[in-house]
Amino acid sequence: MDCGHGTEEQLDDKALEEKLERIKHIFVVLSGKGGVGKSTVAVNLALSLSLRGLRTGIVDVDIHGPSLPKMLGLSGQRVGIKNEEIVPIEIYNQLKVVSMGFLVDGTETPVIWRGPMKAKVIREFFQHVVWGDLDCLVVDCPPGTGDEPLSVAQLLAKKSSAIIVTTPQQVATVDVEKCIVFCRQLSLPIAGIVENMSGFVCPHCGEEVDIFSSGGGEKLSERFRVPFLGKIPLDPDIVKSGDEGQPYMHLYANTKTAQKFDDIVEQIVIFGNNQKAQVSGM
Ligand code: ADP
Repeated sequence: MDCGHGTEEQLDDKALEEKLERIKHIFVVLSGKGGVGKSTVAVNLALSLSLRGLRTGIVDVDIHGPSLPKMLGLSGQRVGIKNEEIVPIEIYNQLKVVSMGFLVDGTETPVIWRGPMKAKVIREFFQHVVWGDLDCLVVDCPPGTGDEPLSVAQLLAKKSSAIIVTTPQQVATVDVEKCIVFCRQLSLPIAGIVENMSGFVCPHCGEEVDIFSSGGGEKLSERFRVPFLGKIPLDPDIVKSGDEGQPYMHLYANTKTAQKFDDIVEQIVIFGNNQKAQVSGM
């Protein structure tokens, strides 16, 4: 309906635009398959960003299996509502967190929604959340290229960039290629590829050992001409900290593995700045 100032849809788009304008960089974390450590990477990148003093948020758009509450030790918590908007939960260095898991009852209850319903709620996560002014917002998508990543890409393609997480074993599979093609088709710029679980950090001596072949991520990035952001080793402390709801970067900010997250963060911020410069120079 047109109320004289524009249709409801136009007003809605304007409201979303205003919200997004207050967020400098949005990084959408994707993976071809589940279990490659996408959420782990998303959480630890968000923490690394906030540890450098950047105002950071993280949102989990995984409607069916939100993992942020467990990984951040926030299971069972609920977000507040203020002026009909969702107020994120703040942890550590004022890292703002929103997850579907804070809105639904009990982890055993499955959410049964069709695509348009999901698209609606995902839009809410950007339009009706009190994000305020942020330097960076990390978006953790469910694996694959289904409804949720599609909604995110359609809403945010011009404002964000993608980080694709893979493992050495998955690197050559068609799912990763699909992810790259998906971003290209939706004009979502790719900040780069992260090869997770690449090499093993021995719990006894701390040395890194290559148990699976690694380096596939670099080859893949050359082949598709997308940046290679780095490798995160298979580190028992990552599993332990994730299971305990205390993310790795919070407990071990000064380790070699933490440095790898920091190095990736450095590159994605540069990528984001370059993207912004290109868009504003257009
Ligand atoms: P996804 O989001 O891709 O499904 P998760 O982030 O939930 O994957 O990770 C799956 C499991 O792998 C978790 O138990 C997590 O702690 C573990 N994991 C992820 N990355 C690493 C890593 N680099 N080293 C050790 N364990 C990891």
